[in-house]
Amino acid sequence: MSQHIVNVESRKKSLHYFYEKVVMPLGFKFTPDKELMNFLLEQEVILEGKHGIPFCPCQPLRNDRIRDMQIVCPCIPFHRKHFNEIKRCWCGLFVHKDVLDPDKLQQLPPKGGEQ
Ligand code: SF4
Repeated sequence: MSQHIVNVESRKKSLHYFYEKVVMPLGFKFTPDKELMNFLLEQEVILEGKHGIPFCPCQPLRNDRIRDMQIVCPCIPFHRKHFNEIKRCWCGLFVHKDVLDPDKLQQLPPKGGEQ
């Protein structure tokens, strides 16, 4: 395994450890879909390498600092009301604690102009 891949894996583990502590008190957990979780964490490590911050892998950067800081993972505190309604975050990296099968979640359109 190359050093780069080892570093990515180790950073993914650190993010996982840190994120779990942040999202659990908010009523969320990591998706049980391990493949999706691994993919998204890897994308975040790549984004962190590029921008110095683990931005959301499924939201575009707008070069608007205030807006962009609201899509630093985990962005749940900024969008909690909406995520509570859809029981997951936009990317699906996190789901409500009571969600066992994320594939069964309804896809609801965002309300109030929030995306
Ligand atoms: S939508 Fe999910 S993966 Fe994206 S930043 Fe927010 S919490 Fe992280």
